[in-house]
Amino acid sequence: MNLAERDLQVIWHPYTQMKTALPPIPIVRGEGTCLYAEDGTKYIDAISSWWVNIHGHSHPYIAKKIAEQLLQLEHVIFAGFTHPGAVELAERLLAILPFNQKKAFYSDNGSTAVEVAIKMCLQYWHNKGEQRTKIVAFKNAYHGDTFGAMSVSGRSAFTAAFDSLLFEVEFIDLPNGNNIEALKSHISHLKPHVSSFIFEPLVQGSAGMIMYEAKYLDELMAHCRKEGVMLIADEVFTGFGRTGKPFASDHVQTQPDIMCFSKGLTGGTMAFGLTTCTQEIYDAFLSDDKMKTLFHGHSYTANPVACAAALASLDLFLEQSTQQNIDRIVAKHAAFAEKVKGHRSIKTTRQTGTILALEWETGDNTSYFSGLRDKLYQYFLNAGIILRPLGNVIYILPPYCITDNELDYIYNTIGQALDDI
Ligand SMILES: *Cc1c(COP(=O)(O)O)cnc(C)c1O
Repeated sequence: MNLAERDLQVIWHPYTQMKTALPPIPIVRGEGTCLYAEDGTKYIDAISSWWVNIHGHSHPYIAKKIAEQLLQLEHVIFAGFTHPGAVELAERLLAILPFNQKKAFYSDNGSTAVEVAIKMCLQYWHNKGEQRTKIVAFKNAYHGDTFGAMSVSGRSAFTAAFDSLLFEVEFIDLPNGNNIEALKSHISHLKPHVSSFIFEPLVQGSAGMIMYEAKYLDELMAHCRKEGVMLIADEVFTGFGRTGKPFASDHVQTQPDIMCFSKGLTGGTMAFGLTTCTQEIYDAFLSDDKMKTLFHGHSYTANPVACAAALASLDLFLEQSTQQNIDRIVAKHAAFAEKVKGHRSIKTTRQTGTILALEWETGDNTSYFSGLRDKLYQYFLNAGIILRPLGNVIYILPPYCITDNELDYIYNTIGQALDDI
């Protein structure tokens, strides 16, 4: 049996209908933007392996730091104990986040980072003796796959089997010039019961790279702040340069109360989650009353190896050449978007920073499950490019080390697909 056959004997893959899925492609090596299959086929990873990779695969600097850490200290319980990596990472990250962020709480992935954020907000009000239990979120939001994170995400085919068990959330439209006043008064109306407002700043990734203006987000955030509604910026996807600036929150004036990070945190090397918060939130848990404690943690909270990976990734992220690469991708994306704009197969193009999304013209069938999606996916795989359309939306969000040649190859292949499909 080859690897794919052995896989199908024992493995259940994420987001995969195992009955109809094609056998998985065995990948045995990664370098820079590229992944190499068992049979030698090379793939350009144009989606950064589910949006996590920022410096390229198997980066030697990150690998070296991880190896050193493994030989020094692989793990230690994080209640009652600490270690240098956890402290240094918190110090260095808090220094580059919006300056009201004062405390770091570690967990394992994006969903857990969101769970922690939700619990911090709900218990903040609980500890203060106020009945504020409602959460406001955007329609079509995606905040993760655990139950709390799923609850604050839009209801969809992905949540259908669980909808009756998810807690109720007030879903609002994305803000724009027409509805901003209505949204503000809606929030004022709900305010006595609202604990917090959770949002993906600027880009709703899983919804199909839906983008909205910083200006209106800022206005909505400022209004929530005025009404005492806690602001949770879920930067699991947008953090670490994706939007052109280090964090999507850098595009607005109003600072969130809580921020969630994961995908780019370790440069795409390993699972890790981080929730940061203000002094005010932290202080609401300080008490002689043990019941005011944040009773949350994971076995691998602040794993030293994950901290080492995140520190190494941060070193690379802060190098000048990384920001130059980000700026280069932003400019090339914009030029390509301009070029394909008028094509009859393109409905719209959208760009925020290093994220470029092209919406395919489909006539009437726009579902995630449409045949077009599978056709496009296969087309690009055959050309040695990993793109994973969300329905009829193709998006490119590459590791920042992608070369101009690789980008041009992706653009040209998309151009060809536009004519062929
Ligand atoms: C991916 C994602 C999550 C969930 O992160 P996981 O690590 O997959 O659990 C949460 N929020 C946003 C905005 C995401 O894109």
